[in-house]
This record gives sequence, C-alpha cells and structure tokens, in this order.
Amino acid sequence: MSGKHFDMIVLGGGSGGLAVAERAAQYGKNVAVVEPTALGGTCVNVGCVPKKVMWYAANLAHDRHDATDWGFADAPGAVDFATLAKKRREFIAGINRFWDGYASDLGLTVIEGHGRLAGDKSVQVGSETYTADHIVISTGGRPLVPPVPGAEYGITSDGFFELDELPKRTAVIGGGYIGVELAGVLRSLGSYVTLLDMLDTVLAPFDPMVRETATENLDAMGIERHLPFKVAKLEKTDAGTIIHGDGGEQLGPFDQVIWAVGRKPNTDDIGLEKAGVTVEKNGMIPVDAYQNTNVDGIYAIGDIIGKYPLTPVAIAAGRKLSDRLFDGQKKAKLDYETIPTVVFSHPALGTVGLTEPQAIEQFGEDEVTIYETRFTPMRYALSSHGFKTAMKLVCVGDKQRVAGLHIVGDGADEMLQGFAVAVKAGLTKADFDNTVAIHPTSSEELVTLKTPRDA
Ligand SMILES: Cc1cc2nc3c(=O)[nH]c(=O)nc-3n(C[C@H](O)[C@H](O)[C@H](O)COP(=O)(O)OP(=O)(O)OC[C@H]3O[C@@H](n4cnc5c(N)ncnc54)[C@H](O)[C@@H]3O)c2cc1C
Repeated sequence: MSGKHFDMIVLGGGSGGLAVAERAAQYGKNVAVVEPTALGGTCVNVGCVPKKVMWYAANLAHDRHDATDWGFADAPGAVDFATLAKKRREFIAGINRFWDGYASDLGLTVIEGHGRLAGDKSVQVGSETYTADHIVISTGGRPLVPPVPGAEYGITSDGFFELDELPKRTAVIGGGYIGVELAGVLRSLGSYVTLLDMLDTVLAPFDPMVRETATENLDAMGIERHLPFKVAKLEKTDAGTIIHGDGGEQLGPFDQVIWAVGRKPNTDDIGLEKAGVTVEKNGMIPVDAYQNTNVDGIYAIGDIIGKYPLTPVAIAAGRKLSDRLFDGQKKAKLDYETIPTVVFSHPALGTVGLTEPQAIEQFGEDEVTIYETRFTPMRYALSSHGFKTAMKLVCVGDKQRVAGLHIVGDGADEMLQGFAVAVKAGLTKADFDNTVAIHPTSSEELVTLKTPRDA
C-alpha cells in the first residue's frame, strides 16, 4: 500500500481522530487512520469508559452499604476486584471490536503503527510512506510522571486499569479530576486512600464552592488528605512504598502509589519538525479557531491543542473540521466557550461557565449576583450518613444572565447536561424562575433559588 494517496490521513484513532475520520468517510472521502494500539484511544481504553465502569461499581458499594439503614438485610462481602477488572476489560474489548467493524463499514483504511509526519503532506508508518491532501494530528496524551527519585515505584491511571487486585493502602498523588476520581473509586471499594497534592486544594480550577464541598465529601469518605504536600522521592521498602516530602516528612507505607499529576501530549515523536509544524514548549500544538496549524493542510484536534482535554470536545472539533473541509461549510468550527464538564467523584460534581472569581474578574463585583444552596438530599433520608449537595448560580448584569452553574451532589452528572443548554443559550435567572420545578428532586433547587447571597 506504500505510496498510496488519501483525501485525509488521521494520526491517532482516539476520540478526535475517529470522529474526524468518520465524518469525512460519511462525505465519501478516502480516509486512513494511523493507530499503534486499539481503536478508541484514551477514552475507550484507559479513560472515561473504564473509569465510569469503576465509578458505577463504587456507587454500588455505597448503595449496598447504605441499604441496611433502609431495612435491607446485610449486604454480603466486598467486591471481587479481579472479576470486576476482568468484566470491565471484556466490556472495553467489545467497544474495540465495535470500532474495528464500524471502521471497516465506513471504508476507513486503518494503518497499524506509529505515524510520523514526513513533510510534503506525507506520513511515514514504519517503512511505508503515504500522502494525503489533508493531515489531521490527533495523537492525544499520556500520563505524566515527574522526574523524582523512585518515581518508577508509582503507577499512573494507565496502571490503575491494569490492577487485578485492590491495593489495601493507596496513595494518589495529584488532586486534579483524575486523582479525585481514582481516590474515590478506590476508597469506595475498600482501599485506605491518602490523597496529596502540591497545592493547598483539590480541583484547583473549579469554583471555590465546588472545591470546598468536594473536599468535605472526600473527608466524609475517610480519604486522608495532605495538602499541600510536595513529593521529593518514593522509596521502596519491605513494608511498602514510602513517600518523602520535600520538607523531610514521610507518608506510608503504601501498597500502591498512583501518579495523577497531569498529562503530556504525544507530540514529541511525530515528525512535527519535518513538516514545519509549530509546537509550544509544553508540547501542545497551537491552532487557530478552525484547527489549522501553521502549515497549510495540517490540522490538530483533541488533547494536543491544550484546550479542554475532554472527549466530546475532541469529537466535536473533529466533526466540525470535516464539515468544513469536505462539505463546504466554510465557517464550521467548534465554539470553545461554555463547555460543561463533570468530575465523577463521590458524589459527582459538574460545572459549566464562569466560576465566581472568573465572573468578578470579567464583569466586576457589582455586576455579579450569586445564588447558592446546600443541603443533604432525600437520597439519604433514612441513611446514617449523607453526602452534601451544593449548588451555585453565577449571574451577571442587570438581567442576571446565568453565566456559571455549579453542582456537587448525587445526580450532578446527569443534571448538568440540560442546564448546560440553558447556560449556553444565555438564559437569565428569570427564565430559571419561570420554569416549574420537578418535585421531589435535587435539581428543582436550581429553579427555586430565591435570595441572592449577602442580599
Ligand atoms: C483516567 C482518565 C479519565 C478520563 N475521563 C474523562 C471523562 O470522564 N470525560 C471526558 O470527556 N474525558 C475524559 N478523559 C479525557 C479523554 O480521554 C480525552 O480528552 C480524549 O480521549 C482525547 O481525545 P484525543 O483524540 O485527543 O486523544 P486520544 O483519545 O488519547 O487518542 C489519541 C490516539 O492517538 C494514538 N497515537 C499516539 N501517537 C500516535 C502516533 N504517532 N501515530 C498514530 N497514532 C498515535 C494513541 O494510541 C491514541 O489511540 C479522561 C482521561 C483519562 C486519562
């Protein structure tokens, strides 16, 4: 097949790559996808999907535990982690098989291997070279491991999905969304979890209310927090792995240490220099609003552009790009404003639009009105414990446009999508007030908030 010419070659068969390729194929284009591993990328193989399976398992553990407070007989035993992991892998393998079949149905040419740009609109995979009118880079990222002594004694989120045994004592290093999610799952399934971060808070970019409530919920689960804690080295001992802090403090021993300190773009070995594609110091590829790199005919989408590293963002950018290139939709581009996101913590949390500090910075304090509430939802009416739910509307201007909406609590993940439509549409507090509540739910609170904070 060497020397073959395509309308489009896509480097990376993950969320963004498959979306751009699928849409182009639907427009009748001849498309190749280069992928060294299983189709589906991070999300399917070591990200959103297996993570959400584990989150469901964790929720079941909570429900089984709670059930006795509601009069159910004692739930038997703990989870058989190996069975859970095996069944999860079978589920993922099914998605991989789906993609193999669907790619073939679409007429995509899947080229197995590591692709590199080779200049002149060409891509090299092993000893073969292919050319295309359009090349899309969507090579995603991989977990970052900091260069501290003993770093190799820790695993990453990828390694988490390789575990067949629940570690008894786990340290999760990093309080971003992946760290918080993994800590929650592990604790729910029975591991003793310590969470640390070099910052003095978890979920740093989120609204302060979200951070505070999420922190309380971590505490309620019995997750030990060390914030801030800067890791200086990991040491392997017979009793387990010890974490040394840069102030001489020690934590552990742990049976498993998980690095969740960020991700690194897969752009260091893809021939960017050969094609003359500009790359930033942090490895991200700068693009304009239309996903164009600095080189004509070469585009970048997904995590490697350093904006909203989320699956639906990569997918939407990919589809818009094919709409523009192959369907004459000259202005098609993803609007990167007001993107909703959820953290699958326990309970989940979701956020769309501006945080309170961002709104104040953008509009000034006098223009910002805050409505918020905090309660224990009815889900815990008969339970001996209960996670807190908290909600906040960030409204701006005289008309009180809802510019930010933040929820921590059971059901936040499913609640947020609908409310994100309202925020994206620029609806006002009055529109929320004019919507009849659904009772009894947690979400009804968002349309019945009466008094502004400090009013
Ligand atoms: C633990 C975890 C949980 C997550 N949870 C969520 C979530 O709940 N919701 C959400 O929206 N997002 C989540 N994400 C993020 C989401 O997975 C990414 O934003 C998304 O996968 C990005 O898509 P992408 O196409 O940019 O890259 P990827 O999906 O990573 O795909 C990149 C593909 O490129 C391939 N590749 C790499 N180098 C080359 C090369 N040289 N040639 C050819 N192919 C190459 C890789 O093998 C990979 O298959 C999670 C991520 C992680 C790690």
